[in-house]
Amino acid sequence: MSIAQHLEEVRQRIAQAAERASRDASAVKLLAVSKTFPADDVRAAFDAGQRAFGENYVQEGIAKIAALADLRGDIEWHFIGPLQSNKTKLVAEQFDWVHSIDRLKIAERLSAQRPEGAPALNVCVQVNVSGEASKSGVEPEEAAALAHAVAALPGLRLRGLMAIPEPAGTLDAQRVPHARLRDLMQTLRADGLALDTLSMGMSADLEAAVLEGATTVRIGTAIFGARDYTT
Ligand SMILES: *Cc1c(COP(=O)(O)O)cnc(C)c1O
Repeated sequence: MSIAQHLEEVRQRIAQAAERASRDASAVKLLAVSKTFPADDVRAAFDAGQRAFGENYVQEGIAKIAALADLRGDIEWHFIGPLQSNKTKLVAEQFDWVHSIDRLKIAERLSAQRPEGAPALNVCVQVNVSGEASKSGVEPEEAAALAHAVAALPGLRLRGLMAIPEPAGTLDAQRVPHARLRDLMQTLRADGLALDTLSMGMSADLEAAVLEGATTVRIGTAIFGARDYTT
């Protein structure tokens, strides 16, 4: 199947899950995660109507943004991977969104390095909702303090929360961590933060995420196929 056909399938999955949740499917943004796939695949997805793309690795993302410079005005580039402080400048200069803020230091650097005249960089605070020591993201108890500090930075616009829940086999089990992230966002909104983005749901748990209120789902494999990390 082509990338265009895979995209159509993913759109159908979102529509069906939204209908089941009595939500408007247009309230769920599809972020196509293109990490490890070539710029030509991004272009194929773009030609099939996709506009938002997610990358995990700084150098790879920057190279793709450059290769697709002719589409820059029509594409939204999201950085969704772990970010080290020595790489923040390129991200602040080149991307539209960062989903993986889990330390104030990274947020402060991104804010300071956002170019003069550019719109504020859209960011999400990544939360570890699965309680697994190996996963990145701030602990839920620390999310409010980090979110308030990030919201005060002039170069950034805090949009919401992001999570990568650990895999679970059943829909019900998948819904638990997604519901936790949604509840956390509701608490922060009640606390005065103007948040509109719940970034959660990947190829294997898209339905659970949409059922629990995801506003952005990050889908890689179901659009581009299985990733090959060996090359
Ligand atoms: C790779 C990745 C995805 C996409 O995962 P798939 O299972 O391929 O859909 C989503 N979010 C993040 C943060 C990722 O690193």
